[in-house]
Amino acid sequence: MPELPEVENTKRYLIESGIKNLTIESVWTDSPTKWIGTDPHKFHSDFLGSRIVDVERVAKYLIIHTSVDDFILHLGMTGWIRLQHADAEAHKFTRHVIHFSNSDELRFMDSRKFGKIICQQKLTQSLLPDPLSDQFALNKLPASVLGRKRSIKSILMDQSVIPGLGNLYTDESLFQATINPFTPIKDLTTAQLELLTIKIKSVLQRSLDEYDLDRGINDAEPYFSMTPWDINRSVDGPCFKCGAPMQFARINSRGTYFCPQCQSM
Ligand SMILES: [Zn+2]
Repeated sequence: MPELPEVENTKRYLIESGIKNLTIESVWTDSPTKWIGTDPHKFHSDFLGSRIVDVERVAKYLIIHTSVDDFILHLGMTGWIRLQHADAEAHKFTRHVIHFSNSDELRFMDSRKFGKIICQQKLTQSLLPDPLSDQFALNKLPASVLGRKRSIKSILMDQSVIPGLGNLYTDESLFQATINPFTPIKDLTTAQLELLTIKIKSVLQRSLDEYDLDRGINDAEPYFSMTPWDINRSVDGPCFKCGAPMQFARINSRGTYFCPQCQSM
């Protein structure tokens, strides 16, 4: 599932591939119900002739700024994007295409169809800024959040609290900070919150570095699932650090792996 680094990687890829200044000419889709706050016909008439000004990432959303208005892409569970010439063979999971006047196409592939193209919607503001920003620090959360019995994993996954941190990066960060995912946030010390903040940033940055390297070496296409993980995500598989059997649990219905020994309560 695309999480923050995968969406950031897609943004960097689109900009490096030259999406800026392309002019929207037409659209195609096989999934019109995935166009939210608009439909393909309305989108076409609203954005016809508009020029791409910039691509921004907010949490796990891509904001496409155009000379007319903004629209938002959300990759959902299995979405990925390519900027390709119209002559290039289309992937079988191509769901949406934005065709530009120079014959380039923004192609949105999505096997499970959870991805969306969104217009006229404001994104929810989170309590903390983007985890990649210098201002991001868990200690800056309001006392009303820091004093809660809610588990740290559930807090980290809450988009109204922290923007864009996904399930895989949350588990990895907690593992690296040796914090049990079930720990109530109120039981974490200032030092633990500081360590977790550092680990969240370093885990995300390590992944981004891999993607940057890949785009530099390969043909400037963003691949997913390149992130190096230190956590072993196999049930009963040995912890790579201490060899203890890993544990699996569900927190807010999200699959969670942790080492009961390294991440004891
Ligand atoms: Zn361990």
